[in-house]
Amino acid sequence: MLSIDQLLERNRRWANGQIEKDPTFFATLAEEHEPQICWIGCSDGRVSPENLIPMPAGTFFVHRNIGNVFAVGDLNCLAVLQYAVEELRVPRIIVCGHYRCGGIRAAMTRQSTKPVDLWTDHIRQLARLHDEELHALPDETQRLQRMTELNVASQVRNICRTAIIQETWKRGQPLAISGFVYDVSDGLLRSVTPDIDSATRWKEWDG
Ligand SMILES: [Zn+2]
Repeated sequence: MLSIDQLLERNRRWANGQIEKDPTFFATLAEEHEPQICWIGCSDGRVSPENLIPMPAGTFFVHRNIGNVFAVGDLNCLAVLQYAVEELRVPRIIVCGHYRCGGIRAAMTRQSTKPVDLWTDHIRQLARLHDEELHALPDETQRLQRMTELNVASQVRNICRTAIIQETWKRGQPLAISGFVYDVSDGLLRSVTPDIDSATRWKEWDG
């Protein structure tokens, strides 16, 4: 484990390195926050959006939780979405899940009243809805991977259905929502939903 002094030293080296590359880096960044993407991802340490898609600093407005769930009754999720869309006016929302996700595994393999298992119950219930499709797959790895994809699509649906998003589209504010799955074993993102940029496209996709 690194000590506090070692962590602070790493931070100083990073800040100095940024200034060496671009003396105006912090001055420019401090002026305003204009993120281009609201990212809803998993808390897993291997899936930070800044590491997966190289973009200028400040591009991502990030919400992460176990299993990249957008729970429609969760105030934290709703506040992030509302702030992203109404205040920051981000033009794009991405839900990103990933293979080998501990949250998906927990939802598929166990059940208890511990907080992690209560949270992943959102995914567990979804797995029950797709029980037939999942059990038709030949092994557990494929079931977990398919569940990761189904979970992302379901969270994209949850977002599209909120009054926040419906009203955003109604007033003509540009906003596209889509879902990715990241494969931690090859570093690649895959698109698992259409790019939904209007109520019409959402209805075509979600029925
Ligand atoms: Zn995860």
